Amino acid sequence: MAWDFETDAEYQALLDWADAFVRDEVEPLDLVWPGQEFVPLNDIRRKAIDPLKDQVRSKGMWATHLGPELGGQGHGQLKLALLNEILGRSMWAPIVFGCQAPDTGNAEIIAHYGTPEQKERYLQPLLDGELFSSYSMTEPQAGADPTRFETRAVRDGDDWIINGWKFFSSNAKTASFLIVMVVTNPEAGPYQGMSMFLVPTDTPGVDIVRNVGLYGEPDNEGFHALIHYDNVRVPAEALLGGEGQAFVIAQTRLGGGRIHHAMRTIGFAKQALDMMCERALSRETAGSRLSDKQFVQGFIADSYAQLQQFRLFVLYTAWEIDKYNDYKKVRKDIAAVKATMPTVLHDIAWRAMQVHGALGVSNEMPLFKMIHGAAAMGLVDGPTEVHKTTVARQVLRDYSPSDDLWPSQWLPKKREAARAKYAEFLELEVGNL
Ligand SMILES: Cc1cc2nc3c(=O)[nH]c(=O)nc-3n(C[C@H](O)[C@H](O)[C@H](O)COP(=O)(O)OP(=O)(O)OC[C@H]3O[C@@H](n4cnc5c(N)ncnc54)[C@H](O)[C@@H]3O)c2cc1C
Repeated sequence: MAWDFETDAEYQALLDWADAFVRDEVEPLDLVWPGQEFVPLNDIRRKAIDPLKDQVRSKGMWATHLGPELGGQGHGQLKLALLNEILGRSMWAPIVFGCQAPDTGNAEIIAHYGTPEQKERYLQPLLDGELFSSYSMTEPQAGADPTRFETRAVRDGDDWIINGWKFFSSNAKTASFLIVMVVTNPEAGPYQGMSMFLVPTDTPGVDIVRNVGLYGEPDNEGFHALIHYDNVRVPAEALLGGEGQAFVIAQTRLGGGRIHHAMRTIGFAKQALDMMCERALSRETAGSRLSDKQFVQGFIADSYAQLQQFRLFVLYTAWEIDKYNDYKKVRKDIAAVKATMPTVLHDIAWRAMQVHGALGVSNEMPLFKMIHGAAAMGLVDGPTEVHKTTVARQVLRDYSPSDDLWPSQWLPKKREAARAKYAEFLELEVGNL
């Protein structure tokens, strides 16, 4: 019977190496070049970063989510989850290990749906970590609802002309190309009438109107672009997959993206728990250490249990993806993990912040950034509420309504049936009295 919670010794040794490498070599990058992960390397940074990437490659840990045909190890999602929970501690780590969002998801769909020419032009440099990409789907007026998308592409001879607005296209300002989801056939409806295009960012008409920052970032220096596609002309070869396939492609992409965020969130939340425990043991007030106060013990116990539940759920879901090799089949659990993730990170980081007192809410600790990260995670790749409705719908598929006025577990009826089933023995018992 195969049911095992242990990592094999060989891979565990690699994880131990990654753990120390991220702590000693990569986490310092977050302090010297914060927020610069998605900026193409200049000559100076290249001298620091390329040798780190080389070390990752020499250990066979580069882009491990990919199959060998794409330069990865074909380790699959479970092993990636174990690695990603280490990488989640650092903003730079996914870049150094070649598995950063949104490029992983974008690479996945080009690998799946791209033509040989598209793969050569976009996929290979993306996999080599030499350029960045942006996924341009959300629209200002439509948010998470693809049925309200308005950005259109209209055929003009051998070309397509794209017009419309997209919002929160992450990393567009540093990306070499955009994957844009647009309406190509309004009559066919959102599920068959939209297509994806690969659009170089320097194509005339791609107008980044502003770069929206997240909380705490300076105005117009953010990474989430409002883009006006203003008569953007692209050749027919820019179409990714078939015409009308955008919805199917988006589902392929988002399934992987969501679970990868969850894997990294384990690492982030673990960091908050580590900080909470260290502070609880270090700080003494009102006659005892914080770790001796029952409220703080409650924080620690709740956080530990929440993190363990979440971690096991993520690992199980990753295992399911490897087993079935079909995101659709694992949709319920991916959505459940995605919906759980912001709460887990929020709760643990919030408690850690409280335990740190004033220092916790200051900009000298990373805790408020984690709380904000949790809020963003509740929206990235779709709002929590939408995922919860997906989970509920999928769960309900396994049930049917009661065919009676009373629920199937209504005790009087069940008792009557039980008594009928064992009537013979009950009668004997009465007879023996
Ligand atoms: C950090 C970050 C990075 C992002 N990166 C990208 C990117 O690279 N590319 C891209 O295209 N988009 C990106 N997005 C956008 C993201 O996909 C959207 O924010 C998300 O889909 C929600 O759209 P909205 O923000 O317009 O909210 P709305 O759609 O307006 O929703 C607002 C709220 O309404 C409720 N709600 C909405 N729909 C439903 C529903 N069906 N059922 C119940 N409640 C509902 C929820 O509470 C939701 O939070 C990013 C967002 C963030 C925060």
